[in-house]
Amino acid sequence: TNLTGELSAAVRNVANFPVKGVTFKDITPIFANIKLFNKIIDAFADKFADLKIDKIAGVESRGFLFGMPLAVKMNIPFVLIRKKGKLPGDTIWASYNLEYGTAIIETHKDSFSEGEKVLLIDDLLATGGTINASAELVRQLKAKTVAAAFVAELAFLKGRENIKDKNIEIFSIIKY
Ligand code: 5GP
Repeated sequence: TNLTGELSAAVRNVANFPVKGVTFKDITPIFANIKLFNKIIDAFADKFADLKIDKIAGVESRGFLFGMPLAVKMNIPFVLIRKKGKLPGDTIWASYNLEYGTAIIETHKDSFSEGEKVLLIDDLLATGGTINASAELVRQLKAKTVAAAFVAELAFLKGRENIKDKNIEIFSIIKY
């Protein structure tokens, strides 16, 4: 029924995590509520049913938890975008700025092929840095990010406006 309402009841606010002053949206209670989890996967599958997606890419690590079940449901291949140093094969990388320093993410060189339509999945959109770097990986392999989907979006951080590629459709179920 009311997915947004159920979701806002499930997501837990954790004060001062990972650092003082930040209130972290803890999505782990969603996994303990399998009915709610299934509704989220169904909502994503319905949303993107007609886009002719070739690949779903999950962003480490919570993006894996939603991305792989969605890929199974939609019967679409799944690939991993990981933090630097985790993937065993030949990789490409992209970096993005954090509040202090930079972060590097990687994917295997054979994750995407030229012309493929890609759906990026992560649990939460904050500043948009992670998704910009993920889209950069897709671009390096000459594929096309058509959409990015999140369970939650911290709208007050304006990540949506920070996403450089304006052709990417941004979808989130719950906005704060
Ligand atoms: P961004 O790059 O958009 O600033 O941050 C998004 C990334 O950080 C996502 O991979 C997400 O998992 C993580 N993240 C940042 N803040 C939160 C939060 O409050 N809750 C959760 N679950 N993830 C967060």
